[in-house]
Amino acid sequence: MKTLLCDFCLKSGMLCAKCQAMVNSGAITSQYMEVGKFLLSLEKEYSLLQEVTLYNVFQEGGILVLVVGRGESEKLLGYGGRLTRAIGEKFGGRSVKVLEKGLSSRRFLEELFSNMTILTINTIWLPDGTTETKVVLREKRAQRPSPKRIKAMTQIAKKVGGINLRIEFV
Ligand SMILES: [Zn+2]
Repeated sequence: MKTLLCDFCLKSGMLCAKCQAMVNSGAITSQYMEVGKFLLSLEKEYSLLQEVTLYNVFQEGGILVLVVGRGESEKLLGYGGRLTRAIGEKFGGRSVKVLEKGLSSRRFLEELFSNMTILTINTIWLPDGTTETKVVLREKRAQRPSPKRIKAMTQIAKKVGGINLRIEFV
């Protein structure tokens, strides 16, 4: 697995000047290092991890978000959910969301809401010239996600996709 740090630095925790600078700048968090180290240790068992680049790790409302390279999320999800479950269990029983870097807004939202049905996606221009993306989701068995979860999804869309999201259900 590739991370933004040198393998040696990540494994040993003794950082070279370049890695230390990334930590100091806030680009690399301790959570990123913990998750990166854990994934490196799983490479033997889950060999597809060797082809994955980990760009970002953060937590949002109980969801642990892993941002990987384009076309790489399957390499984490392709073990029948075993790998993401192992990650979630290791880090306090959180649910894990794997998202790819550099996708179009539509593809990004399809991944973000992969367990829900998207009915429409619309871009709304606001008076101040910014845009908001309205996503209408189908409510499954009259069970919509909790307000906390919806808020988390909105934050994740902002952080990873740069999207100002408004979620509605029908
Ligand atoms: Zn280094």
